[in-house]
Amino acid sequence: MSADLLAVPAARRAAIASLAPHLVPGRRVALSTHLNADGDGCGSETALARMLTAQGLTPRIVNPTPWPEMFDFLLGDDVDDQTARGSKALRDVDLLIVLDISDVKRLGVLTEAVRALTVPKLVIDHHIDSDEPAGPIVVADTSACATAELVYDVAAVLGWPLNAAMARSLYTGMLTDTGGFRFSNTTPRCLAVAAQLLACGVDPEDMYTRIYASAPAGRVRLMADVLGTLQVDESVGLSWLSMGPDALDRHNVRAEDLDGIVEHARSIAGTRMALFFRDLGHGKVKVSFRSTGRTDVNAFARQFGGGGHAKAAGALITGSLGEVRDRVVDAARTLLAAQE
Ligand code: AMP
Ligand code: MN
Ligand code: MN
Repeated sequence: MSADLLAVPAARRAAIASLAPHLVPGRRVALSTHLNADGDGCGSETALARMLTAQGLTPRIVNPTPWPEMFDFLLGDDVDDQTARGSKALRDVDLLIVLDISDVKRLGVLTEAVRALTVPKLVIDHHIDSDEPAGPIVVADTSACATAELVYDVAAVLGWPLNAAMARSLYTGMLTDTGGFRFSNTTPRCLAVAAQLLACGVDPEDMYTRIYASAPAGRVRLMADVLGTLQVDESVGLSWLSMGPDALDRHNVRAEDLDGIVEHARSIAGTRMALFFRDLGHGKVKVSFRSTGRTDVNAFARQFGGGGHAKAAGALITGSLGEVRDRVVDAARTLLAAQE
């Protein structure tokens, strides 16, 4: 049973095989993920970095935003994070591998440098396709619960061994992208792979404690503020939360501490779409979209220049908090009303 579940789907296997010729010992490889890296980005990067090192390549992490402190436990002396050098760290590499991104613009300040890069660019991702992927060579599979599942498959197809550190990184990606193995992407295969990771030595309680029970007090205080902004339109099943530009500083917390806040809006009975508006303070608002039913928030977020998955998407929208909220809430009401 579990052997069948672990079989790598044929198309995915073929895509992974096309990466192999690029993974030549001695090559210097930059690994990158989306701005404000999450557990999947950090987990996929650290797992792949250690795998590539074991294969004789020289990987370095080059992200558009600094490594999130909550995932420091995934780093170590054997992982080289050159993010602080910015796009200079992309100049002297032989290969780029972009993880957990379908749209090059999610590389933020690195976008232009990556567009201009002439070395081969590989993409490993589980988002819905975008118009401009970060590179032409893509292992993209939306049926994967996390990019970490695809990195696990890279190792499986190429016959690379997994150690406990790699397994912890992959588990982090799968645990966080499935909301603790609760969202609809928690497939039988996801749990079969997670079971393999436990068998490699991952301690699930230790992972839970590090990821979900090591928050600064400010995170809970910030959450209290944000939850106080809750608005619910029961007539269409829409719930939304908002946050001003100074809230992070006021509570001395970081963007990574916002992960999961939108789930509180999604948890309300009757909610079909949940939104979280975060005023970035420079004329842009980050919007998180979540769906509980058949509403496709990837398609909805695309109307605003964003994207993601059918049930979880994001967009960066220009305007004041009030303007953006009015526009998006109006459009969401119209969409949900039409679906009744
Ligand atoms: P978030 O609301 O930031 O947790 O993001 C939810 C999902 O949407 C994640 O899979 C993100 O990778 C994706 N996403 C977030 N922001 C954007 C954006 N500006 N453009 C495209 N996809 C996004
Ligand atoms: Mn991600
Ligand atoms: Mn992901």
